[in-house]
Amino acid sequence: MSIDFEDVKVSGLKVDYFFICKRKLWLFDKGISMEANSDRVIQGTIVHEESYKKAKTKELLLDNLIRLDIIDNNYVKEVKITSRMKNADKMQLLYYLYYLKRLGIERKGTLNYVKEKAVEEVELTKENEKLVEDALFEIKALLNSKYPPKAEKYSYCNKCSYYEYCFVKEE
Ligand code: SF4
Repeated sequence: MSIDFEDVKVSGLKVDYFFICKRKLWLFDKGISMEANSDRVIQGTIVHEESYKKAKTKELLLDNLIRLDIIDNNYVKEVKITSRMKNADKMQLLYYLYYLKRLGIERKGTLNYVKEKAVEEVELTKENEKLVEDALFEIKALLNSKYPPKAEKYSYCNKCSYYEYCFVKEE
């Protein structure tokens, strides 16, 4: 299936959420947002401000949709606190590389894990482009659905800002 990118493009955060929890993405998309107050978001903001102070191009916002932590002549660098959500991190970064490629800008990527002081290289191969496109189609379908997916118990649910919304029943 050929892709109409203008029709399916979303923010990088939504791609990240899609790979963390589809219900979380749906709730967030519908404006049921609790993330601004979560410790993880506050912690993440501080990490971004403190990390890689020497980088020349930080926090580049494109089309009000994707926010690149760092970009130089060769790499897009995505800064994360830990590698607990590695697959979601990787897909978010691949989406950035895909997005840039559509703008005529080709870069490799690195995931920069601050706590572990680890760096992982990510490349937009043809296979990875297909993964990104498949995800964009699925995200569009999910966001068009009337109801959210059912809550599933993940090991990280108790750290999610929607935890009470998903699991604490009113008495
Ligand atoms: S609490 Fe769990 S199921 Fe609910 S939105 Fe968060 S990650 Fe998803």
